[in-house]
Formats: sequence, C-alpha cells, structure tokens
Amino acid sequence: MGTGLARAAAAELDVHDPLARWVDGFVVERPAEIYFDGNSLGRLSHRTRARVEAAVAGWGTDLVQGWREWIDLPTDVGDRIGRAVLGASSGQTVVCDCTTVNLFKLAGAAVAAGRPRSTIVTDGANFPTDRYVLAGLADTHRLDLRLIERVDPEAVTDALDDSVALVALSHVDYRSGAIADVAGITAAVHRCGALVLWDLSHSAGALEIELDAWDVDLAVGCSYKYLNGGPGAPAWLYVNRRHHEVLAPPIWGWFAQADQFAMGPEFRPDTGIRRWLTGTPPILGIAAVDESVAMIEEAGIRAIRAKGSALTTYAAELAAAWLEPLGFDCPAVATRGSHLALVHPDAYRLSCALIAEAGVVADFREPDILRIGLSPLMTRFVDVWDGFDRIRALTERCAWERYDVTRGRVT
Ligand SMILES: *Cc1c(COP(=O)(O)O)cnc(C)c1O
Repeated sequence: MGTGLARAAAAELDVHDPLARWVDGFVVERPAEIYFDGNSLGRLSHRTRARVEAAVAGWGTDLVQGWREWIDLPTDVGDRIGRAVLGASSGQTVVCDCTTVNLFKLAGAAVAAGRPRSTIVTDGANFPTDRYVLAGLADTHRLDLRLIERVDPEAVTDALDDSVALVALSHVDYRSGAIADVAGITAAVHRCGALVLWDLSHSAGALEIELDAWDVDLAVGCSYKYLNGGPGAPAWLYVNRRHHEVLAPPIWGWFAQADQFAMGPEFRPDTGIRRWLTGTPPILGIAAVDESVAMIEEAGIRAIRAKGSALTTYAAELAAAWLEPLGFDCPAVATRGSHLALVHPDAYRLSCALIAEAGVVADFREPDILRIGLSPLMTRFVDVWDGFDRIRALTERCAWERYDVTRGRVT
C-alpha cells in the first residue's frame, strides 16, 4: 500500500477539509458504524431535531392561530431551496406532496398543454417511480411512452420529433451516479418545441444546479436524501416563471385557489407557484426541511459539491486499489454525483454481511450494485477509508457466503 492509500492520508484530507466542522452537527448514535447511505436518507442534524421539537411545541401553544405563520411556509421554504441549491429565483419553487405526486402533477400539466402532441420520452433506466408515473399518464391519456437507452444530448435528439410533448429525465442516475448534461439536453428539447421535466432527487443538495440559467421548464425532487429533511419529508417542485399562467394543475385543491379563504364556488387557481399546492401542507415536515436546507445554505453548495467530488474520487481510488482485485468493478462515468456504484455478483449478500458484521451501511440496488453514498456534510475521508477497509476485509474472508440470497422486504 502506497502512502497515498494509508489511513493517515485520509486523516490529512480531513484536517484540510473546510467543511469538517459540519460533521459534528449531525446525530451519531453508533460512532463505530460507517454510514454510506446519506443519499437514501440523510442523517438527522442536532439543529433539525431542535427545530422539529420547537415546531411541535408551537402546535401545542398556537393551535389554529399558528396558521397565520404556517400558511407561507411552503413558498418560503421553496424559495430557500431555490436560492440555496437550485439556482432558482424566488417564486418558482414550492414544498409540497411527495416527489411521485409532484411528477404526476407537472407531467400531467405538460402533456395536457402539449396537445395534440402525444409522446412522452424518458430513460428506460430512470428511477422506478418516474417510469411508473409516466407510464400511468400515457395509459390514462392514450399517449406513447418512448424509452431511450442513454441520457445524453445525442440520444435525446434522436428520440425527438414533433409528436413529443414532454421529455422527463433524472439529473443523476440513481444506480451508476452518472450526471446528465441538463443544459445541453434542455436546449435540444426546446429546439423541437417540447417541455422538459428534470428529477433532481439525487442531485439537489449535492451538486451545483442552475435551473434558471439552464432554462429548465419543470423540476421535482425529494427532501430526504442530500437535503436531510427526514423520512417522508415533503418534496418540492419548480415551475419556470414563463409557464405560470399557462400550465394548469391537474389536482384542483383548495390550497391552490387564488382567494383560498373566500371558499368560492369555482376553482380559480393562484397565478403564481401556489397553484401547485393541493391540500393542507405538512408543517412539521416542512419545518425540518427548512432547518436542514438552512445548514446547506450556510455551508454553501459550491463547497459541498467540491467535497463530494473529492470524496467520490478518493473512494474510486480505494476501490481500484483494494476492491477490483477482489472481483468488484467500479464502472467509470464521465462525471459522477455524490455516490458511486461497486458492482459485484454477490452485492446483495455483501450488503447484508456488511451491515451485520462490519457496521457498514450501504444500499444494494438490483441486480448487482453495492451503492456507496458519500453525503458531503456528514462524511469524513477517514469514514471512506474505514468503510472500504472493512469491505475489503469482509470480502477477503468471503463472509457474505453465509447469507441468504432471498431479498428482504426493503433493500
Ligand atoms: C428518491 C427518488 C424519488 C422518490 O420519490 P418519492 O415520491 O419521494 O418516494 C423519485 N425519483 C428519484 C429520481 C429518486 O431518486
């Protein structure tokens, strides 16, 4: 092992890490455990715990009067997400529902506005909920769903013609970690007169994003991955200002109504981003998102991305030196988000053995991927070293052979 791969080198990287102090901001109940899953569910921070406790207390004291303050939380926190992580000026982002429902609302509005165009384009390897929602819309509205095999401007351009109403893709591939060229693909889609919807669930809070500058039409994303908003945290959606009065929400809820408390006979949607709200917003969950995103805003997304890049580059080096000789493959991608895929034929059993015997928590993704998420604010370079050292040791002694190949309820 060269000195570059010694644990001391990782410790040295931590000493020079400008974001190092944020690691202590998170709750760590089992210090011996290595958490490589901040891209599936970000850790709880001490600040967010205190904020949620305060929000619960506020419920107890303010009761229904609390709505005077809570009513603007979905748009205020949307603006914070827009400013801190999306490169979106205010009034275009709102926190509501889950990503799946937001996808349904925005994709449904886009295809309705795109008539008589009748085709939706997506990636055959897109995240499951995205594929299912789009397939469901295509089924209900008798549209064609066209699948592409690569997410790059050439492949997208090849799939475009004047029947295409909407192209819906993910910014970061949830398996390989590959980053799509959002600006290039968006421009190609616009040239054919269609709209584009980006799912940023695996990039918001980890990558630098410029939705306004990239001229994106629509975007959605969740808040519990790199945004650390907690299990089932309310998601967000972005609608570019130029579409505000053009696209109509398919769910006509009272929180979308222009003059909500007039309780009028007809639905007249708000002219701004509020028209994408549906019913009563989950205030406790939005409070958690607000505090968690405030931490990201303070740390700065540019610094977060720089650390994420350094962490994944370092992890790929360790994988090449230690794990590839043991039968792993770490597929190269041109540019990578904040996670990497370690491909191994027994990845599922390895993921079980790692949790049970080595205290390394990483995701398994079908069919053969051990996914290593390196959430920048909560991960140290020595965590990467320790985690990979444990993966190496466990693989060397074939510890996974004793585990069952039958998948658990949650993988
Ligand atoms: C995590 C993730 C989702 C999650 O959708 P939910 O409605 O929050 O369950 C959707 N799309 C992508 C690309 C994701 O990574």
